[in-house]
Amino acid sequence: MELNKFFRPNILALTPYSCARDEFAGFQNAEAVFLDANENPYPNGCNRYPDPRHTALRQRIAQLRGVAPQRIIMGNGSDEIIDLLIRSTCRPALDNIVVFSPGYSVYEVSAAINDVQVRSIDLLLPDFRPDVKILSKVADANTKLVFLCSPNNPTGNVIPLSTVERICSMLPDSLVVVDEAYIDFADMPSATTLLDTADNLLVLQTLSKAWGMAGLRIGIGIGREDVVTVLGKVKPPYNIGGMAQQMALDLLADTDGFERRVAEIKCERGRMFGELTALGIFSRVLPSSANYILVFSPQCRAVHGFLAENGVVVRLRDQRLIPDGLRITVGTPEENDRLLELLKARI
Ligand code: PMP
Repeated sequence: MELNKFFRPNILALTPYSCARDEFAGFQNAEAVFLDANENPYPNGCNRYPDPRHTALRQRIAQLRGVAPQRIIMGNGSDEIIDLLIRSTCRPALDNIVVFSPGYSVYEVSAAINDVQVRSIDLLLPDFRPDVKILSKVADANTKLVFLCSPNNPTGNVIPLSTVERICSMLPDSLVVVDEAYIDFADMPSATTLLDTADNLLVLQTLSKAWGMAGLRIGIGIGREDVVTVLGKVKPPYNIGGMAQQMALDLLADTDGFERRVAEIKCERGRMFGELTALGIFSRVLPSSANYILVFSPQCRAVHGFLAENGVVVRLRDQRLIPDGLRITVGTPEENDRLLELLKARI
């Protein structure tokens, strides 16, 4: 399959910046003297540039996710990969992306920054399913990217893999990006299981959520090897700091702790769903496959303000298609109890 249907011509023609450590990738001689990168020679733990290819971290993530390391691109958070995708595929003022609403707003912001048109499709009420029929009418020859978010932020529902497959085959000339930032909280397999059959699919994941490393800024893109290689040419050379790479590797060793904490959050999500529903103050509480719950109340602004005054911060999502919405992240059992106590005190 040709790459020129996905990427801008200038990107395919790009000669990427070649950094010093690229040329000497794998140079293992402990005696080596590095006078190639204009670094400060005096050791302090961070005087050397980090691995631009994130080799060790990529290998570990590949192993954990059951995909080949060559299929992975790493970003400074998945937000960086979203921007990278838009910049690499869409010609400003000519091409467009398709998003579903309500959804994660960074897709639209990144598109606006890059002067790329956004075509937004409303998710179908009441359960926020993507409208696949409309998609074929909204997308055109200049649609370079379709963003799907599963589990969706802020509604928390998942998109079945059969729908992802259908969208990929409907739009073979666009890249279909499935943002799985919250996939570890869902009871379904990742869309990476479709990669061998859907060759216009790219899956976004992150270490910021279930893995608990939001402060490190490590995002993951998983797709076709040739697509990922092009994206690797466009990314800033040293986009993830060395200490962040090392700390992520160390934390990724604790798979038992990861599983325990995810199980705890899922258990709390179930408890919070029941408790928030039983309070009787919300007109609707959405079931969620992520680590947050969207609730609705005509008094959402007052509730939001009351909670904030009492030191509990939740996210107001009072917007089109989800008027009166408040998004509540699942915290520790103690944090969740604090929220419930405040809500009960206010009734
Ligand atoms: N996608 C979704 C759906 C998100 O909610 C977020 C974080 N709010 C991101 C991507 C970005 O995550 P990060 O940049 O921390 O990897």
